[in-house]
Amino acid sequence: MIILENIDSNLQTFDVAHHTQASTPFSIFGIMDRARRRKFGQNFLDVETATAIAGDLPAEADEFVLEIGPGHGALTEHLLNRGLELTAVEIDEQCVEVLKEKFKDYKNFNIVNIDFLKFDLQAFLDAHEKPWVTGNLPYNVSTAIIAGLMPRLHLTKGFMGMVQLEVAERICAAPCSSNYGSLSVLVSAFANTQILRKIGPEHFTPKPNVDSATMLLTPREDAIQAPDGFFDFVRTAFTQKRKTLANSFGRNYDKKKIQATIELLDWPTTIRAEELSPEQFLNFYKAFMQ
Ligand code: SAM
Repeated sequence: MIILENIDSNLQTFDVAHHTQASTPFSIFGIMDRARRRKFGQNFLDVETATAIAGDLPAEADEFVLEIGPGHGALTEHLLNRGLELTAVEIDEQCVEVLKEKFKDYKNFNIVNIDFLKFDLQAFLDAHEKPWVTGNLPYNVSTAIIAGLMPRLHLTKGFMGMVQLEVAERICAAPCSSNYGSLSVLVSAFANTQILRKIGPEHFTPKPNVDSATMLLTPREDAIQAPDGFFDFVRTAFTQKRKTLANSFGRNYDKKKIQATIELLDWPTTIRAEELSPEQFLNFYKAFMQ
């Protein structure tokens, strides 16, 4: 029995004596590949869909592009062939080796082998004039990536890329709709949002269990200047979104002060978090903090 370390914990034990690469379809290499794909959220796009999605990036030749999770380069290749100056950030060193070989003759290709959540985005933005950000994002970290990007979106031309459909619907939801929540407020505080394409599992290898969508997020000229604590306040308001605003803040904030703020703003006492636009949330927060 050997232990496969650093691989998906569900697949950590494997009996080599009974499963060799030559003798069984359950080869250790196949299992490692599958574990790796699951761990890194690797679902690779087919050529036709990748071509269409890459064509949606409204970038001009010579502009900078930051691609998150290039995988085997399905989107990358199209973007490089358009003459874009592309930097790819990929966590999986095996993909990085594939990409280095595949694009070795491209002068406009750079690759960084790192977890994007540890990538120094600010340093990249300081060194590159208004890049586009793109990628078919790994689903397990897509909201963390988008949330981290938003406060710096004004330093980019925008984001065009793919996430799980359900996440795209939450991000692009309008107030009073069923998908509207704290993620919608966070993103729409900084971005104009639009779903571009819905993409079914059949366009990926391996097929994910969920539908996907591409979105275009461009910087709002009138982006909200969020004070410290604002987004925590919004998140708390949505923890019990069926309750009235006064009740949804629960024990985290002074309920009497919340009620007094609602009165001060002349809002109905029945008002709920899902009815408030980012601007109304900001007014509420500022009035509450005074
Ligand atoms: N762009 C390729 C395509 O569309 O075929 C691959 C997309 S696949 C859904 C996600 C990619 O992100 C994989 O290549 C995966 O290794 C990479 N990835 C996963 N987590 C990452 C992270 N934290 N930072 C950077 N890349 C990551």
